[in-house]
Amino acid sequence: MKKTIIKKFKNNSDIEIKYNQMLKEYTSFKTGGPTEFFIIPKTINALKKVLTTFKQEETFILGSGSNIIVNKQGISRVVVYTGELNKISITNNLITAESGASLIEVSKKAANASLTGLEFASGIPGSIGGALYMNAGAYGGEIKDIIKEAEFIDHSGQKILLPKKELKLSYRDSILQHKNLVATKATFSLAKGSLKEIKAKIKELTEKRWAKQPMDSPSAGSMFKRKAGHYPGALIEKAGLKGYEINGAKVSEKHAGFIINQNQAQAEDVKKLVRKIQTEVYDKFSIKLETEPKFIE
Ligand SMILES: Cc1cc2nc3c(=O)[nH]c(=O)nc-3n(C[C@H](O)[C@H](O)[C@H](O)COP(=O)(O)OP(=O)(O)OC[C@H]3O[C@@H](n4cnc5c(N)ncnc54)[C@H](O)[C@@H]3O)c2cc1C
Repeated sequence: MKKTIIKKFKNNSDIEIKYNQMLKEYTSFKTGGPTEFFIIPKTINALKKVLTTFKQEETFILGSGSNIIVNKQGISRVVVYTGELNKISITNNLITAESGASLIEVSKKAANASLTGLEFASGIPGSIGGALYMNAGAYGGEIKDIIKEAEFIDHSGQKILLPKKELKLSYRDSILQHKNLVATKATFSLAKGSLKEIKAKIKELTEKRWAKQPMDSPSAGSMFKRKAGHYPGALIEKAGLKGYEINGAKVSEKHAGFIINQNQAQAEDVKKLVRKIQTEVYDKFSIKLETEPKFIE
């Protein structure tokens, strides 16, 4: 396979290939062994070339790596990293971003253009593609509220444009979790607002986040989904598990809904800790906690 890839992409300056790349360098939780082929398309056309070279099951699409926990064996699939597909443009109240653009960067650009609606996302460290995959949300806002449409390609190279209602966005879910599509672009519909108020809102939310969440420790964000109005952090704390640790994977002392990588924990350690939490919370409150980040092998 290696030879085929090299032959196919050798003379294409829009496709970079790294060999045996450690994935922990590309994940916010700082776990993950090597992947033999780590491919970085620099344009959407190059992404299309890569996708049409492999079968869907041979690839893994990596955004900012802030919602995945990769095991120490790494990923045996070809990893396609979207980080260099990061163009952002604004036309009137619409902001369009390529799928590898950082959500934080997009909300900053919107704010600087006095466009309101993306303030909730100003601290979510994902890419546009990952945010769409998860219908990312915070502080009462979510991608679903502001998205107009998104563009995708499939592994046959076909371009597909879907309006909001076909994106099947619901709590931490979207069409991307059910169909073999790769997001290439998204357009958000915002409203004209006051630069001062938008910046004040972003400042307020940033301060809230830093006060309540373990922002300076590696994590994958909230470890569990909210369940019928129950906050996992409160349940975990009530179950007496705040600070509980397994081999460096630790329930954050600052916010029990987060598991942090305190000391070179591996995905296996996180899984053990997750199972311990799920068992204790179920025994005490009869509530089944479901993980929000994906464990990737
Ligand atoms: C400190 C911290 C705070 C966080 N706070 C929040 C929060 O407030 N709210 C919230 O919702 N989340 C939060 N998260 C989680 C995370 O940032 C979001 O889920 C984010 O949307 C994930 O985007 P990503 O690019 O990092 O995705 P990745 O982790 O790279 O990938 C996640 C999934 O999306 C898929 N994917 C990525 N890009 C594409 C694409 N272009 N096409 C198809 N599939 C794709 C991947 O294959 C993978 O299955 C937080 C995480 C951290 C570390």
